[in-house]
Amino acid sequence: MNNIADILLDSVNHLKHTAVLGLHEPDFSGNELAYVSECITSGWVSSVGKFVDQFEQNIAAYTGVPKAVAVVNGTAALHLALILMNVKVGDEVLTPALTFVATTNAIAYTGAVPHFVDSGKTDLSVCPDLLAEYLKANVIIRDGKSVNKNTGRIITALIVMHTLGNPANMQALKTLAAEYHLKLIEDAAEGMGSFIDGKHVGTIGDIGIFSFNGNKIMTTGSGGALVSHDIELMKRAKHLSTTAKTSEAGFFFHDEVGYNYRLANINAALGVAQLERLPEFLTHKKKLADYYQAFFDKHGAFRFVAPEFNSTSNYWLCAVQIKNCDVTELNRLIALAHQEHIMLRPLWQLNNELPMYAACPSMALTNAKNHVNSTLCLPSSASLWAYI
Ligand SMILES: *Cc1c(COP(=O)(O)O)cnc(C)c1O
Repeated sequence: MNNIADILLDSVNHLKHTAVLGLHEPDFSGNELAYVSECITSGWVSSVGKFVDQFEQNIAAYTGVPKAVAVVNGTAALHLALILMNVKVGDEVLTPALTFVATTNAIAYTGAVPHFVDSGKTDLSVCPDLLAEYLKANVIIRDGKSVNKNTGRIITALIVMHTLGNPANMQALKTLAAEYHLKLIEDAAEGMGSFIDGKHVGTIGDIGIFSFNGNKIMTTGSGGALVSHDIELMKRAKHLSTTAKTSEAGFFFHDEVGYNYRLANINAALGVAQLERLPEFLTHKKKLADYYQAFFDKHGAFRFVAPEFNSTSNYWLCAVQIKNCDVTELNRLIALAHQEHIMLRPLWQLNNELPMYAACPSMALTNAKNHVNSTLCLPSSASLWAYI
C-alpha cells in the first residue's frame, strides 16, 4: 500500500464502529446523569448551587492551584484573563496566528490589537526562538514596558496556546515574557490533563484558561475556567464574572463594570462528573495516540504530531502531517474521508487571514502556514481505544 489516501484510510477504517466516525465525541457513562438529575430534582439549575463550588475546588486540586473560577465558556475565560492582566484599549497582545478564532476575538473584545506570532518547525504552538529574534528587532523597552517600534503601541501580554493538547515550550516562553515585561496568558482550552515537568498547563504563566465545550477532552456542555496561583487575582476573576456585585453597600450594588460569565450549576454538575472521568479518558487517549504514532512512523510520507519539551500531552486531538502537501491535496484527502463517513479535520485558518484581523501586525508566519497546509486532525474520541 503506497497511496497516501489508502494509508490514511487504513489508519482509521477499523476504528469506525458506528455509521459515522466522529472527530471527538463526549462520553457520559459515569455520574453525569445522576448529578444533572440532582440539579433538576432540587431546582438548583442556575447561578447558585453546590456543584459550581465543588467543580471549582476540584479543578483547583487537579491542576494544583489554590483557586479556580468556573465561567460560561473558554472565550469568556480568555476575555476575563485579558482584563485581569490589565490589557487596555490600544495595547497590543502577542498571540499565535495558528489558533481557534476565540483567542483573537477575546483580544478584540478588550479593544486591544492582536499581534500575530509564528509556530515552531515541529511545534505547533508559539516558537520562543523565532519570537525572541522578532522582538529583538521590533521592540524597544521604555519605562519597563515593551513598545512596538513600528506602531508605537505598548505590548502588554503574550498569549500561548497549547495546540491540540500538546504543551508549548513554556520554560523558554516564560523567560522571554519576563525579559520583555509581558504578562503570560495560557490558552489551555485544549489542554485539560496536559502537564510539563509535572506542572499542569495553564498554571505556569500568570493566568490560564480552560474550555469545557462539547468537543474538548471533558465537557460541561458549554463552560470554561480560569486558574492562577495568585489567589487575589482569582477572587477578582470571580467578582468580575458575577456582575461585580458586592454585599456590603446594599442589595443591588455593583462596584465596577462586571460580566455575567458564571457557570450554571447544571453545567457544573456535568463538569464534576466529567472530571472524575478525566484520568480514564487520558489513559485511553494515550493508547489511541500510541497506536496512531506507531502506525504513521511506519510510513515515511507522514509525521505524527508528538508532544515535545518534556511534557505529557492529553492527546485531545491526534494529528498527522503529510510531507510535501498543499491545501488542495489536504482538502482532497478530507473529502475522501468524509465520503467514507470518517470525520477528519484541518487545523484552523490562520487568524491573520480572517477579514477582521487582516490589517493586524504580524511576524512572518512561515511555520504556521506550513502546519495549516499539511496537518490533519484524526478521530480522537477516548472510546476509540477499544477498536485499535
Ligand atoms: C475551544 C477553544 C477556545 C474557546 O472555548 P469555548 O469554550 O468554545 O468558548 C479558545 N481557544 C482555543 C484554542 C480553543 O480550542
